[in-house]
Amino acid sequence: MNGKAVAVVPAAGQSRRMGGERPKQFLPLAGRPLLSRTLGQLQMAAAVDEVVLVCPPGQEQAIEAEFVRPFGLDKVRRVVPGGQKRQDSVAAGVAAAAEMGAAWLLVHDAARPLASPELLVRVLAAAKACGAAIAAWPASDTIKRDDGRGRVQATLDRGRLWLVQTPQAFRLDLLQEALARAQAEGFYATDEAGLVERLGREVRLVTGERNNLKITTPQDLALAEALLAGGAAGQRMGQGLDAHRLAPGRPLILGGVEIPFELGLTGHSDADVLTHAVMDALLAAAGLGDIGLMFPDSDPAYAGADSMVLLGRVVARLAGAGWRPAQVSATLLAQAPRIGPHVQAMRRNLANALGLEPGAVNIAATTTEGLGFIGRGQGMAALAMAVIASTARQS
Ligand code: MG
Repeated sequence: MNGKAVAVVPAAGQSRRMGGERPKQFLPLAGRPLLSRTLGQLQMAAAVDEVVLVCPPGQEQAIEAEFVRPFGLDKVRRVVPGGQKRQDSVAAGVAAAAEMGAAWLLVHDAARPLASPELLVRVLAAAKACGAAIAAWPASDTIKRDDGRGRVQATLDRGRLWLVQTPQAFRLDLLQEALARAQAEGFYATDEAGLVERLGREVRLVTGERNNLKITTPQDLALAEALLAGGAAGQRMGQGLDAHRLAPGRPLILGGVEIPFELGLTGHSDADVLTHAVMDALLAAAGLGDIGLMFPDSDPAYAGADSMVLLGRVVARLAGAGWRPAQVSATLLAQAPRIGPHVQAMRRNLANALGLEPGAVNIAATTTEGLGFIGRGQGMAALAMAVIASTARQS
């Protein structure tokens, strides 16, 4: 059952329902073209070997230059011109895939950028077991048929109704036969499985994903952006690490809390090592460098600076780049004093500055059992991890 699996992505449609100048598949979605996102999901699906992209005739080179190459989508091996209707475009893509030596085909709508790589792989595996398989979602609304004059004619049995999605996967010769038969008879279906069904062949239903929506209207685009912002696809993470020396005559400030102790941390600012690690983690997650870059030691403006104020500026910088903090986890390494009694106040301070609930900010503390500069009480260090979420469009 092995053999090359090639995905065919029809993107030649003119999508009149969206309005605007460009077909929907070329519009940006959360800062990245919708088409490039869809191709990116195929790129991540291990079982998909290569991709054929079908585009409006004459635009092959321009589309490859705009939507494929800048995104490192190297599974896209061919960009071929499509036809009048979707089915003609799929036929063109299938012909190219056959030339490339495909044994299995995975047809996937350009306008379904949220299908997970896992779903793509699952549908392909089901097709390998029986020849043809499609992603579909069980109907949850009651569905009625009208009589053509605005009156209910029948209520359908919801328990057996499925809303059909893509991907749809087929053995090469099966889809070729179905397409050839349809073409000879001038028959057009709204999906490829419909053509295989006409041959009387089995098509297996695979439970798809509710979020695998087809973007057709501007409302769909807004919904997809919200889903991306709320899901892992709209999140990033970063890490931070900092260390400071302990010395007499300095206050000890950790997480914005002044802790009674005979020594304090030294540094250009208030030397709040915990908050510095958190800032570095946030900046790292957003790809914005580090605090040394943002608040240089050489700048007198930051002498003795309150690190909680600096943290506020880091959050503002992130917001400007389209990100908000989502979660922070930090660990303080210190031999003494005891940190436990102050942890809740530190969490509250950090959570306030980050715009989070205290539950989304964790602070752990550990000694080093007397080992190293921390164990000897010469300094403290802190590690932090931050997760950030996209606030909306990042274009
Ligand atoms: Mg520091």
